[in-house]
Amino acid sequence: MTQESRRGAGGEPQDDCLFCKIVAGHIPATLVRESDTTVAFRDINPQAPTHILVIPKVHHPDAASLAAAEPAIAADVLREAGEVAAEEKLESYRIVFNTGSGAGQTVFHAHAHLLGGRGMQWPPG
Ligand code: ADP
Repeated sequence: MTQESRRGAGGEPQDDCLFCKIVAGHIPATLVRESDTTVAFRDINPQAPTHILVIPKVHHPDAASLAAAEPAIAADVLREAGEVAAEEKLESYRIVFNTGSGAGQTVFHAHAHLLGGRGMQWPPG
């Protein structure tokens, strides 16, 4: 287990976590949808015409840690991503969970990137 994945693995809010601050309303974000367990908001640096982040309100450092600790909430994140895609009228879309700094993860609070509105390449970069 890396230092990154140990940080805040218990689900409690982390003082130094950007996304915990968004959940708490201490940092502004453009919210598009909220449930009891999740928040969806527009990415500040969009990589597609539609780029929305869906996050659990509880803090876990990455998607796999979230799924291991709170599988129902991991399912909520996926379901909410689908609901957002429908609301955004995306016929095709990609859901990405960057995990670990080598994969480009910079915010160590589990989050789904919902990307759509343009053609997608495979393999991803
Ligand atoms: P990466 O930065 O490589 O995409 P992540 O997968 O950890 O790494 O994604 C973090 C995402 O959070 C980025 O897409 C970034 O643009 C977004 N982001 C950072 N700060 C904010 C913010 N205040 N509001 C909305 N999105 C943010």
